[in-house]
Amino acid sequence: MSDDIPFDKTFDLVAGQAREIAPGVRAIAAGNSGPFTFRGTVSYIVGRGKVAIVDPGPDDDAHIGALLGAVSGETVTHVFVTHTHRDHSPAVPKVKAATGAKVFAEGPHRRARPLHTGETGLLDASADFDFRPDVALADGETVGGDGWALEAVATPGHTANHMAYALRGTDILFSGDHVMAWSTTIVAPPDGAMADYMASLAKLAQRKETLFLPGHGAPVRRAPAFVRHLIRHRQGREASILHRLAKGAADIPTIVKAVYIGLDPRLAGAAALSSLAHLEDLVARGIVATDGPPSIGGFYRLT
Ligand SMILES: [Zn+2]
Repeated sequence: MSDDIPFDKTFDLVAGQAREIAPGVRAIAAGNSGPFTFRGTVSYIVGRGKVAIVDPGPDDDAHIGALLGAVSGETVTHVFVTHTHRDHSPAVPKVKAATGAKVFAEGPHRRARPLHTGETGLLDASADFDFRPDVALADGETVGGDGWALEAVATPGHTANHMAYALRGTDILFSGDHVMAWSTTIVAPPDGAMADYMASLAKLAQRKETLFLPGHGAPVRRAPAFVRHLIRHRQGREASILHRLAKGAADIPTIVKAVYIGLDPRLAGAAALSSLAHLEDLVARGIVATDGPPSIGGFYRLT
């Protein structure tokens, strides 16, 4: 299913070792590799002397120590957070305490929609509910530092509060988990929403930046074309779901089996949630029906 996307699964950062990957931008990976985090969260240091950190990462003392070590002798004036998953924001309090930096983000963690009656927050364990920015950013707002400026680009979908950051005057955009070179992102209700995600992809496909620096994995090169691949991929998934439903009503496990051929079993839960995200969107558009609100245990049929 994903053969159409030109993924780049290379990764040459060594956890804990900062490296300049673009003029004025250093990257440093945390040691939290896994099926959802690939080779670990990548934190970025922007500027020299008086710097910003984008995504301090997980609450992992080895990573926080390496990150602070990489900026020793410099001043961290700003911290930017792309979104409030536990692999991106929980290092903020310790980095803030050590540096006095001001913290910028879209806002605290929140769901894309309220929980339905009887629904549990399936993703609660992955969210950092404690995070609070010092400054809440609106879409399009620019924050300037010493020799750099970052423009906030609201990109909800993976989470409701996902923010990308464009490095003004350059070709670079920090894309968080919204656009990554190694894999598609997870769009899982109730925290994420497919309609938002697709709108955010369309928004980034229109931007001028061509080098995206993501929260995991290698940089995304020729980013607008890559983003168009992601859009087509999701449109293909949606078509596969509709194709399955054309054969009769089905529950999500049946849909996952039909749509995700050769799925890594560790990702079965994510595939179910991703299917739910598509089905929510299809129900909202009046193409698919279900009894009650779209749920993980529901049965779905074409209208
Ligand atoms: Zn992440």
